[in-house]
Amino acid sequence: KQSWWSQIKAGAPDPIFSVTEAYRADANPQKVLLGVGAYRTDEGMPFILPCVQRAKDMLGEQKLDHEYLPQGGYSEFNRAAARLALGEESDVLKNGLNLTVQALGGTGAIRLGMTFLSRFHTGCKVVYIPNPTWNNHKNISLNSGMEWKFYKYYDPEQKGMNFCGMCEDIENIPEKSIILFHAIAHNPTGFDPSPDQWKRLSNLCMERNLFVFFDMAYQGFATGDAEKDASSVRQFIEDGHQVAVAQSFSKNMGLYGERIGALTLVTTSKEELERVNSQMKIVIRAMYSNPPLYGARIVSQVLNEQALRCQWLKDIQGMANRIQSVRQLLVAELKKVGSEKNWEHICKQIGMFSFTGLNKEQVEKLTKEHSVYLTADGRISVASLGGKNIPYVARAIHEVSK
Ligand code: PLP
Repeated sequence: KQSWWSQIKAGAPDPIFSVTEAYRADANPQKVLLGVGAYRTDEGMPFILPCVQRAKDMLGEQKLDHEYLPQGGYSEFNRAAARLALGEESDVLKNGLNLTVQALGGTGAIRLGMTFLSRFHTGCKVVYIPNPTWNNHKNISLNSGMEWKFYKYYDPEQKGMNFCGMCEDIENIPEKSIILFHAIAHNPTGFDPSPDQWKRLSNLCMERNLFVFFDMAYQGFATGDAEKDASSVRQFIEDGHQVAVAQSFSKNMGLYGERIGALTLVTTSKEELERVNSQMKIVIRAMYSNPPLYGARIVSQVLNEQALRCQWLKDIQGMANRIQSVRQLLVAELKKVGSEKNWEHICKQIGMFSFTGLNKEQVEKLTKEHSVYLTADGRISVASLGGKNIPYVARAIHEVSK
């Protein structure tokens, strides 16, 4: 009897996870993994944020049960997440017009939002995403039953944003389409619009009547200031956009494997919010019924306990500072080993990654000849560099880019 799966062709490996697999299989003791976006200490170890450790200790002392959460998740977490994203002073928040539900990390929040839109968005079901973007945006759009198209974002010649090209493209997006922005720390380029440019984008999206979807995976982690990092989202809401915001606590609390995030939709009345919420619950119930408890308990403990919240602000500042200093150390080291190329863009970028400008062939050489693992687009996770491996990586980059 033939197998039910005999007709299945092998799928393409994930461009990020496949880098980790290749790294694991490499026997070179000097190998370095710069592919996956997970923060490491200066010694290259995973980092448990002190605020999270304290929250876990506090939770451990309580006799907590393991009951089901409702479809929308843990309400204390939802309130804290919304306050963090929208800001204490937000009118939407004060008037109770945000529908915020717990989600399975940032990915789950985007997926839930896109699935909801594919069912209920009344306009054009095309999601416009930046070129380049986090690769999963394409898959999530397609898997949610929507098409995706690019708008211009990056200028490889200048190694910076192509803001004019971006505006031109947005001016030509059909009305009522969906546009996705990275709220902060654009992945993979590390370049964001300035506050003035965000304001112009907000006006442009309003003129074009576009539905704006923010992917906010790095709030606080990017600059160390959680308020500043949310300013794009807050600007658009202040300007009257009914945005969707997908939040992740993977990076800014180091809770990668706990799958904790949130989705917020802005509504215009309490009655509308109830209707939207009732449909959101139906979408969630059919996908995963209800979200997991532990991550929500940790995040709400951290954000709602004054002392832990203060500690968190210190923790994110520490991570952001270390990444910034690594950028400088890497560029200094590249000079030291004799590279005459201009690497200053590495210092100008923000967030977890650097879009180095290395091409596919150079990346291949780095991996094959030096066991330095990164994605084919030349993106490195700066957060994985530290005292021990910077000289080795700098020399390897210099060797392949001479
Ligand atoms: N969005 C962007 C831009 C990201 O870089 C990431 C993670 O790498 C995510 C979303 C997903 O985050 P999570 O791991 O919480 O699903």
